[in-house]
Amino acid sequence: MSIMVMSVVVIGGGIVGVRLARALRDHPADVHLLEKDALGAGTTAKSIAVFSWLESDPSPFAQSLRERAWRTYADRIAEDAISFERIGALLVARTESYRSQLEHAAETYAEHGPDVELLDPADLEAFGIAPEETAGALYTPEEGYLDPGELVSQWAAEAREGGADIRTGVEATGIRTRNGAVTAVETTDGEIAADVVINAAGPWAPRLNRMVGVSAPLRHTKGRILVLETDGDRTLPYTQFESGQYVRGEGRSQVFAGRLEREYADASELDPDEPRSVGGEFYADVADTTARLVPAVADADVAAEWVGLRTVTPDGLPIVGPTAVDGYHLACGLSGLGITYAPVVGDLLAEYVATGDRPPALDRLAPDRFA
Ligand SMILES: Cc1cc2nc3c(=O)[nH]c(=O)nc-3n(C[C@H](O)[C@H](O)[C@H](O)COP(=O)(O)OP(=O)(O)OC[C@H]3O[C@@H](n4cnc5c(N)ncnc54)[C@H](O)[C@@H]3O)c2cc1C
Repeated sequence: MSIMVMSVVVIGGGIVGVRLARALRDHPADVHLLEKDALGAGTTAKSIAVFSWLESDPSPFAQSLRERAWRTYADRIAEDAISFERIGALLVARTESYRSQLEHAAETYAEHGPDVELLDPADLEAFGIAPEETAGALYTPEEGYLDPGELVSQWAAEAREGGADIRTGVEATGIRTRNGAVTAVETTDGEIAADVVINAAGPWAPRLNRMVGVSAPLRHTKGRILVLETDGDRTLPYTQFESGQYVRGEGRSQVFAGRLEREYADASELDPDEPRSVGGEFYADVADTTARLVPAVADADVAAEWVGLRTVTPDGLPIVGPTAVDGYHLACGLSGLGITYAPVVGDLLAEYVATGDRPPALDRLAPDRFA
């Protein structure tokens, strides 16, 4: 007697899709992952890969997601199986009102979350930050950066060992449904029968949703990075200023400089496949601000630049779980936290898809919360 095993097709081989395929290895399922490019070549390659603990307005739920994700990373770090550069993080206030917000955040973290410390402006010099225009900062020594390429290749190898069929250079071009349920995925490499299809396509997610008539409130922002080459001999912590500008050290001499954008565009207005450069306004703004606030980069040369898209949701949390089309699930909208959240999103959705029991944490991430 043969036993029918559920066929799951994951579309998207970024950190989220690959983690999903890896997590499904722990369940009885016939797993196929489709990546139109190379694994990890989308937004995952554009990230600055900080495992992010600090928020100026921390929520216990978001912290609980981070804690669960961190356990996955911490185990691997402890085994020396993955790299993690622990550089610490600062949220820097310019105004007294933001400093008060950080004080409030510090109280929340004292009960729940990473070790934090409130710093006065004079303390910032020790971190390479000019104290003049600041009103202090919230600091944690616990943040650091991961290597997304390493994570993706390890998890993909483990998924393959578990029997997953991972195909690169293969695009999903259509999703077939019958009586309101998915039945197959059409690809540039033929058709794959599917009981479950998971949209893990990052900023391309709206395109797949359109194939099945599902809508989700996804918007895009540009994530622009300048890589600055300095004469410095220290690694800067991840430092986010009240204005949204941020820097993070990469080794001892490089600094990644970016800006959290406040402009959101409808997903249809920013094509993820369009080549982009950071642009003169961004260059002038970021170069000028970082030179003032981070003296080590005052005479830095720009060594490289890139632009990625962050896919954001109205409440800043990912969209994960089932939709009105039977068997069609979303794992998208990870905004600027996809490297941080990938293990928890992948593991929770794999558990749900494989067992049919929705882990309670997925209630808060469900697509129908916006209905
Ligand atoms: C500048 C910048 C800095 C960031 N810094 C951080 C950070 O410090 N910490 C953090 O936690 N997060 C950070 N992020 C966010 C993080 O990079 C993303 O949330 C994460 O990479 C999203 O991963 P993903 O797998 O969902 O999407 P992606 O990596 O975009 O993967 C989606 C994949 O789907 C594939 N695909 C799309 N359509 C199809 C199709 N039809 N068929 C087959 N394949 C398809 C694409 O080729 C792509 O590889 C940053 C993002 C940016 C832009």
